[in-house]
Amino acid sequence: MNPSDIKEKYDVIIVGAGPSGIFTAYEAKKNNPALQVLLVEKGHSIEKRKCPKRKTGVCANCSPCNITTGFSGGGSFSDGKLSISEDGEIGGDLAHYIGLDRFRKVLHYTDDLYVHFGADTVVFGNESNALVDEIHRSAIQAHMKLIDSGVRHMGTEKAYEIYSRIQNELQSMGVDMLFDSPVKDFIIEEDEDGEKKAAGVVLFNERQISAGRVVAGVGREGSEWLNGICHVYGINSKVGPVDIGCRIETDAAITAHIDNTLYEAKLIYYTPTFEDRVRTFCWNPRGEVAEEKYGESLAVVNGHSYKDEALKSTNTNFALLVSKNFTQPFKTPIEYGRYIAEMGNMLSGNKVLVQRYGDLKRGRRTTLERLSKNIVRPTLKDAVPGDLSLVLPYRIMLDIIETIEGLERIMPGLAGDSTLIYGVEVKFYSNRIVVDKQFQTNIRNLHVLGDGAGLTRGLMQASMNGICMGRILTGKW
Ligand SMILES: Cc1cc2nc3c(=O)[nH]c(=O)nc-3n(C[C@H](O)[C@H](O)[C@H](O)COP(=O)(O)OP(=O)(O)OC[C@H]3O[C@@H](n4cnc5c(N)ncnc54)[C@H](O)[C@@H]3O)c2cc1C
Repeated sequence: MNPSDIKEKYDVIIVGAGPSGIFTAYEAKKNNPALQVLLVEKGHSIEKRKCPKRKTGVCANCSPCNITTGFSGGGSFSDGKLSISEDGEIGGDLAHYIGLDRFRKVLHYTDDLYVHFGADTVVFGNESNALVDEIHRSAIQAHMKLIDSGVRHMGTEKAYEIYSRIQNELQSMGVDMLFDSPVKDFIIEEDEDGEKKAAGVVLFNERQISAGRVVAGVGREGSEWLNGICHVYGINSKVGPVDIGCRIETDAAITAHIDNTLYEAKLIYYTPTFEDRVRTFCWNPRGEVAEEKYGESLAVVNGHSYKDEALKSTNTNFALLVSKNFTQPFKTPIEYGRYIAEMGNMLSGNKVLVQRYGDLKRGRRTTLERLSKNIVRPTLKDAVPGDLSLVLPYRIMLDIIETIEGLERIMPGLAGDSTLIYGVEVKFYSNRIVVDKQFQTNIRNLHVLGDGAGLTRGLMQASMNGICMGRILTGKW
């Protein structure tokens, strides 16, 4: 939409067009077509989102990054795995805010919407059979907890198509959308009693747009900005855990029994030495390891996989994340995670580091020569061979090694020399903003959602959070 067509005042302004923001707009407009809704997004509309690296293999340092910003936020170029966890154990803490009964209803409603917009009807991991039972048994033998959850896999290229349909739908519903427009600040007013309330947003070009309510779903990409805003206006937040780790890549033959039955194994392990909680995350059967940029230039690792058979690789990748909860006086877990990622970038010239597991165990770096002899070929072509033990703190490194050794019992061969470890993978969803049951902060009419508020950690729960918010805005909750 042309900036000059944007009105001066709306009923609701949604900041961030990630899944939480777009499903807020969808549900609110569906329930009340007369509601004036503006969606403001710092990245591009979906048709303009292009990651040059997908073709060239080299990151072009787009600002803002096309992988993490633009219509559908982190969803568009994601692997598009929708976690269907009836117990709310995967991808966030929404069940804590809305209760399990409501959670399940919203889960099925949101899942049906994804299918309506074109998601595959197949759900992995829902049935019990001899193979699934065997994976359960070997997980228990390895002292790991396998979480029961279904997975609907959209696939990277299909996720893009599905979110394109949703963008068209929002357009036809009459949601105003302003792209390439980062929000710089909220308009916060004080009433006669001194109570603060949100009254709109200020864009980076200083333009002010008023609104009755402001909803911020800014994702991990916007979490640092949102934390700064919390500080300025005294918005209550709590220090959350920080998840730091790396991405493992192996030959898909080693993971095939999991890939073909569960699609992904959500495993939780308490490590022998430190009793730290380590989990597997974002499993990509026959996928690709990807680099993602945070801020201007911080390279961190991620992964995805295509739906199309012709685009699949012969490797499977997944993250191993160590959750760390810090205690007083430490208050800045995001900065801590960023600092570790920066150390990796310092050694690699702002790239993702890769090391063979065999080299890590022998206490030596991986060189180009050693990597060239490796049986598992890296799918992230511009990852720089190096030494992750110079980057990750001892405790985290040991947690990772002990988890790989534990996983060997479930996936024999994983702890072999040629398994690749990429670093650093960090999840910046640390600070949790304190909200009431309407996701409202201590500033009246200012609501926060999704990953950026520390409430969710994945596509499904972020989308569901949007559905809840849309209903709250229209009195249908
Ligand atoms: C490469 C990749 C793969 C992933 N794969 C999966 C997966 O398979 N399954 C899964 O469940 N999850 C996956 N995720 C995570 C998932 O994408 C997120 O959990 C989800 O998108 C969070 O939704 P959100 O609405 O909270 O935030 P986001 O999707 O991050 O959207 C936030 C939006 O806000 C915008 N924004 C930020 N600050 C501002 C500002 N100041 N002004 C205006 N706009 C702003 C950003 O540009 C962004 O578009 C993946 C993420 C990535 C990056």
